[in-house]
Amino acid sequence: MARKARRTSRSQTREAALAAAAAVRVPERCDVCVIGGGAAGLVAAIAAAEDGASVVVLERSAECGRTILATGNGRCNFSNARLAWERYNNPGFVEAVCGSGFGQDVLAFFEECGLAWAEEEGGRLYPLSRQAASVREVVLSRAGRSGAVLAPAREVTSIERGEKIWRVTYDGAGSGSVIARSVVLAVGGGEELARTLGLACAPFEPVLCSLACEAPEGVSLDALDGRRAHATARLLRDDTEVARETGEVLFRPYGLSGIAVFDLSRFSRPGDVIALDLTCGIDEARATRLVKQAGSCAGLLDPVIARELGDSLGAARDLRFVVSGPAEPQRAQVTRGGLATGQFDPATLEARDLPGLFACGEALNIDGACGGFNLAWAWKSGLVAGRAAAQ
Ligand SMILES: Cc1cc2nc3c(=O)[nH]c(=O)nc-3n(C[C@H](O)[C@H](O)[C@H](O)COP(=O)(O)OP(=O)(O)OC[C@H]3O[C@@H](n4cnc5c(N)ncnc54)[C@H](O)[C@@H]3O)c2cc1C
Repeated sequence: MARKARRTSRSQTREAALAAAAAVRVPERCDVCVIGGGAAGLVAAIAAAEDGASVVVLERSAECGRTILATGNGRCNFSNARLAWERYNNPGFVEAVCGSGFGQDVLAFFEECGLAWAEEEGGRLYPLSRQAASVREVVLSRAGRSGAVLAPAREVTSIERGEKIWRVTYDGAGSGSVIARSVVLAVGGGEELARTLGLACAPFEPVLCSLACEAPEGVSLDALDGRRAHATARLLRDDTEVARETGEVLFRPYGLSGIAVFDLSRFSRPGDVIALDLTCGIDEARATRLVKQAGSCAGLLDPVIARELGDSLGAARDLRFVVSGPAEPQRAQVTRGGLATGQFDPATLEARDLPGLFACGEALNIDGACGGFNLAWAWKSGLVAGRAAAQ
């Protein structure tokens, strides 16, 4: 009964959202049309509208900002106190766009939105409420105050270039088109719309995801399913270290998950090896002594993991898995690929060969590590593109 009531209330919420979306009047003309009302698109809209432009946001989902709600397991790790270029796939471009004030600019934006935050391990920044809904709500209210028209339930189907104008056609809760001076592409990862403009796009691939792996002989992933370890994980290719992360590793029946593995997934290829040190590099002589004293590895590791490894300290220090590829790619946090960055001026995020067309967020071929790096890029690139589009 309870489950049925919950389903009804979900569908009612969606119906209410669709009815509210249908009631939005979309102007036929505006200065800036933002395509995509996710993290980057909302910030671009706010920046452009606060700079005096008339702004329309066309969003495919029934509500804007829904993607924010799923982030950080519903807590939204919205930035990092130690943002660093080298944690992105294209450090030079991110530095050129975001400048030395990257982290401060993101926090200044949220301070002005009225959000309080707290720092956790690894410099991860969360809203003080630890609720992604807080982040979404303050961003949506600021967008509302800025005068931007948020038009959800409208999927953009084409973008055409005219004489110093753009025609953006949409379908959904009413169909139509908007004539705009500038367009901001903020469609997120894996979207094909940009290709229709003849822009070069890097192929899409899931990153920040779990990895399907083959376990070492004698170790059963089924027996380890659900166990977590704090480990140092090294990604090896032909016995050469490609990347290294220390953090949580989660064992799953198909392979490995957890934040350390998500980060390694940005660099991994099928056939690579992930070597886990479940003792996190604790001094070998001391580890040997502790195992002798305890009579097992249970004082160093989760006892279930220790038993599965036959209480072998050697296995605990160098447990090797062979990567087959991304597991559950549809659940990846980020899609690598998208608009090739070389086509965009990093000062404005305007396409060099298509004046008046801007891009931001995951639509561009930028991805970063776990820990708030991807949302930080979305917010900051949204600010840059929105301000420039309003000029
Ligand atoms: C489960 C999960 C957890 C995550 N957790 C974190 C985290 O804690 N910290 C972090 O930094 N990053 C996290 N990320 C990554 C982060 O969410 C993204 O990097 C970020 O949302 C990208 O913002 P964006 O605005 O570029 O794209 P999106 O947020 O994907 O927004 C794009 C929007 O465009 C809309 N759209 C697409 N095509 C069209 C169209 N044709 N017409 C109209 N609208 C369209 C989409 O519906 C969407 O709303 C997480 C991702 C996932 C999936």
